[in-house]
Amino acid sequence: MLQPKETRNCLACDKPLKGRSDKKFCDDYCRAAYNNELKSITNNQMRNINNALSKNRRILEALLPEGEETAKTTREKLIQKGFAFKYITHLYTTKTGKTYYYCYDHGYLPLENDWYLIVRRKED
Ligand SMILES: [Zn+2]
Repeated sequence: MLQPKETRNCLACDKPLKGRSDKKFCDDYCRAAYNNELKSITNNQMRNINNALSKNRRILEALLPEGEETAKTTREKLIQKGFAFKYITHLYTTKTGKTYYYCYDHGYLPLENDWYLIVRRKED
């Protein structure tokens, strides 16, 4: 029995492919173009995330006065300054079960009523 023929198109230029059924590209040119495109999308996404993390860190740093170990702020104030809550570098959970959210060396602990405690990572 004959399998129905699938028409497959090049992932780069979308022209119908001829020949081997596992082919994904017309030729090396299309393969390279496709891979370069993917790489630049990845690089852009990484750059955007890195920028957001740096901005978050700068915002936390600016709200924590020099010489102070902690400072309190509100969610509203953080959002006003452009803080993006979805971007963090890591979490730290204390023995008592409190979770700190970090952007590099600065972090925050959510408190009650949309208040936040800002902290700087202590040297180990
Ligand atoms: Zn092609």
